Amino acid sequence: MTKTRASQAGREILERVQALLEDPDHQDNPLYEALEGLREYALAQDQRLERLMRISDGYHLLERNHTQSLAVRCDRQLRRMEKMARISDQYQKTLWEVTESLREAANQDPLTGLANRRFLMERLKDEIQRAERKDTRLALCLMDVDHFKRINDRFGHEVGDTALCEIAGAVRQGLRRYDLYGRWGGEEFLLVLPQTGLSEAGAVIDRVRQEVGQVTVGEGEPLTLSASFGYTCLHVGEDPNDILKRADIALFRAKEAGRNRVEQEP
Ligand code: GH3
Ligand code: MG
Ligand code: MG
Repeated sequence: MTKTRASQAGREILERVQALLEDPDHQDNPLYEALEGLREYALAQDQRLERLMRISDGYHLLERNHTQSLAVRCDRQLRRMEKMARISDQYQKTLWEVTESLREAANQDPLTGLANRRFLMERLKDEIQRAERKDTRLALCLMDVDHFKRINDRFGHEVGDTALCEIAGAVRQGLRRYDLYGRWGGEEFLLVLPQTGLSEAGAVIDRVRQEVGQVTVGEGEPLTLSASFGYTCLHVGEDPNDILKRADIALFRAKEAGRNRVEQEP
């Protein structure tokens, strides 16, 4: 409780009045009774004031406690909301990761990490449309690893898998930055070369053939790998199956002619 300076000054005056009243020299003073009455009245007023101040202090304390408890509750609520926001963020991140994994799984070959047949087909359709719209050339090539069965038979399926991954890397080395490629299935790969005519495609594909020729498998007496290639260019009005069919015909010829070759179909 706080005592006001006014109340303190009042008390001092009252003490002085008290002292004067108690002085035997002033007992017969005509003002004695009036002063005594005034002193009692002032004392009663002072006590009333003190009671009022106590009540006021109590009220302030109550008010402060109430405000504090409000702040505490508000703070707790805020922390709860932050936690919920964090959970929601985490949930959205997980959802995004799951969607990404699903998208990757749908488009990617799990062994080599390359585009799979489904994705390649989609991209091929896009590229065909783009070539027609922009009136540019488009080359397409099917590649098939030669005698791959022998690799599995001789070294086992796992070594065969590793070889396929190395072949995937070799293909990437031979191609240009903007060429598309992926695993068409088994030991076959598809190469799509945008804005590329027959002769330019031939040079790029032969570079890929040479890169694949650098891949070896097995220890001790390693085997050198090779692949055969059949390629062609897009004709006006063709759909993906038309161009793929012609590339396959060229690939067949490359196999027939002894493998480790690049053949074209106009
Ligand atoms: P060719 O020169 O005529 O193409 O002979 P090839 O042995 O490559 O052809 P074939 O089609 O007879 O055999 C392909 C082999 O590729 C058979 C199959 O076991 C193997 N193969 C296909 N996919 C995979 C794979 O994911 N991993 C492994 N290790 N082998 C695979
Ligand atoms: Mg094959
Ligand atoms: Mg093969």
